[in-house]
Amino acid sequence: MIIFFNQDTHSDSKEVEDIRLYLDKFPKIKLKFVELQGETRPMFELHLIGPTHDIPLDVIETFPGVERAIRVSSKYRQIGKHKQDIAPIGFTYNGLKFDQETMHIFAGPCAVDTKENTEELFKILKNLGIKTARMGAYKPRTSPYDFQGHGAECLPWVFELAGKYDIKAIAMEVLKESHIDEITNELEKAGNPTGVILQTGTRNAQNFELLKAVGSQTKFPVLYKRGMGLTLEESLNACEYIASEGNRNIIFCLRGVKTQLGLPHRNLVDFSQVPVLKRLTRLPVCIDPSHSVGTKERSTDGILDIFHVTAQGIIVGANIIMVEIHPNPATALCDAHQALLPDEFMLFLKDVDISRKAYETRLKEIT
Ligand code: PEP
Ligand code: MN
Repeated sequence: MIIFFNQDTHSDSKEVEDIRLYLDKFPKIKLKFVELQGETRPMFELHLIGPTHDIPLDVIETFPGVERAIRVSSKYRQIGKHKQDIAPIGFTYNGLKFDQETMHIFAGPCAVDTKENTEELFKILKNLGIKTARMGAYKPRTSPYDFQGHGAECLPWVFELAGKYDIKAIAMEVLKESHIDEITNELEKAGNPTGVILQTGTRNAQNFELLKAVGSQTKFPVLYKRGMGLTLEESLNACEYIASEGNRNIIFCLRGVKTQLGLPHRNLVDFSQVPVLKRLTRLPVCIDPSHSVGTKERSTDGILDIFHVTAQGIIVGANIIMVEIHPNPATALCDAHQALLPDEFMLFLKDVDISRKAYETRLKEIT
């Protein structure tokens, strides 16, 4: 059960105290007070965990300060909307707003390689007015003999260069808890010139200890990637681990699912589930066309498959696009075959704009 309070009903208010006293009658229930940022205002919620069937909703709703109370049948109680009209969760990080309305593009290489390439990339983004990037320092690779990322040693110059080119957030995958500490320390040592969104990869989509680790800190938001072999329900339950540890600043990312049925693409594109996720969850939704498609093939109309699937995600309301670009793919150490060249990226942005406008027109004329 979730009890929603009116504005300004903080955890130490008399209204919350009165409900707590009443709920003492139900000793098996654990209470968790949650304060989070809604789209338009802060929200105050009391989460009741345990057997709540004997607690009368109508009595709870008579308490002063209570807006309403709902029974939550679904398991992902904190990130879910539960078929009710619960406001989406938005958050602001380093001056950037993320919610189910906004749009951002996280562009960059699969992995950090050279200083020159990194600077070149940030320069391209700055010239385009883009303040968000993607790049991995820690790379989970299918083969132990493939490049595993430069690790912590590249962080000082990556952060310094990001600051120099006004990048506000870099999506960066972490594979274990100590990577969060390394990122925190290096950012602090560099004087926090930029920000990081911790990415959990598809291979770790059910690594519950890692999800708890990114969830139990609130310094960095988290971009959770759907498990390549998981149903949406399974991935949502896994993603809930992050929220249940206290971190509500989460982005849910679709990146395709692994099946032969997706061939010749690397994965079967699942972007038709963007509106489903916006209905089921309170989270901003990201699409990753690079790992979904995995090739630079072009259709007979002359448009790259990566562009086509991106359009499919944006026209149904995606909030974040994560795409691999590389200024010099010949020197890339990972996923060069799917990275867009700078010229292609310009066209990509034009296409993103066309698709977003089409979505906005649909919203105006179809609803
Ligand atoms: C990535 O974004 O670099 C990546 C490895 O993605 P995924 O976890 O979706 O394969
Ligand atoms: Mn990659």
